[in-house]
Parts: sequence; structure tokens; C-alpha cells
Amino acid sequence: MVLILLHSQLNKIKKHAKATYPEECCGILIGISGKKAIVKRVLPTKNIFKGDKKKGFEIDPLALAKADAEAEKKGWEIIGVYHSHPNCPGRPSKTDLKQAWPGISYFVISVINGNPGDYSSHRYNPEIKKFVEEPVIVLREEE
Ligand SMILES: [Zn+2]
Repeated sequence: MVLILLHSQLNKIKKHAKATYPEECCGILIGISGKKAIVKRVLPTKNIFKGDKKKGFEIDPLALAKADAEAEKKGWEIIGVYHSHPNCPGRPSKTDLKQAWPGISYFVISVINGNPGDYSSHRYNPEIKKFVEEPVIVLREEE
């Protein structure tokens, strides 16, 4: 798969990641999923993780339900989730792997000293129980 998002959508994620630093931010990506996953909306959500939010995140199930309803109205679906890694690489961790489910993109962005850094997107493959990286294409403007 390929994850496609707009530059402005990436900036929205970066802004969110910066705002919650040094805690992790999280949110939902809704859009179109076919041969490519095309982001239509970035929905920032609250991190409701009960433990140390610097090292974990949990998306509010109510926010997920709301996002699902919003997507459905437009004929879209939930195509992914995103979260940040404060002072850690922008790649999924072992903890992320334990919580992963197939069929959606896991977008992770690094935040080093408050500044958004590298990012990547992965999909969970249940057969090998691993994340497989997918290319991220950032478009300058809506086509
Ligand atoms: Zn993580």
C-alpha cells in the first residue's frame, strides 16, 4: 500500500505532535482505501492513555466511533491512525506492535526537543505478526 496525504494534512499532524510534546499525540486518518490509501481528513484526538503519556497513547473509542460516522457520511472510512514519538524514532515500537490491528495505516512521527522530525507509515501483517513499511507520498495541493 501507499499512503497519500496533503502537505497541509502533514502539517496538521506536525502541529499536533508539537503541541502535546513531551507527551504523545494521537489521531485518526479518514479517507479512501483502495489500491492506495488517500487521506481526506486528519482528525486529532485526545490521548486517553492511563499510563505515562510520554510513552504511550490510546485513542478514545468515542472519537473512533465519531470518526467512523463522519467518514461514512462522505463514503469514506477510517484508513489509519497517527501518533507521535517524543524523542524517539518515527517508527512503530514493540508496544505499538502489540496493539496493532490489520487493514489500516500506522503513521508515526518523531518529535525531538519539541520539533517534529522523521515519520513513516506501516501496516500490520497478521501472518508474519510484523509491521511492513509503506511509502508515504505528500502532495503539495489537492488534485
Ligand atoms: Zn508508538
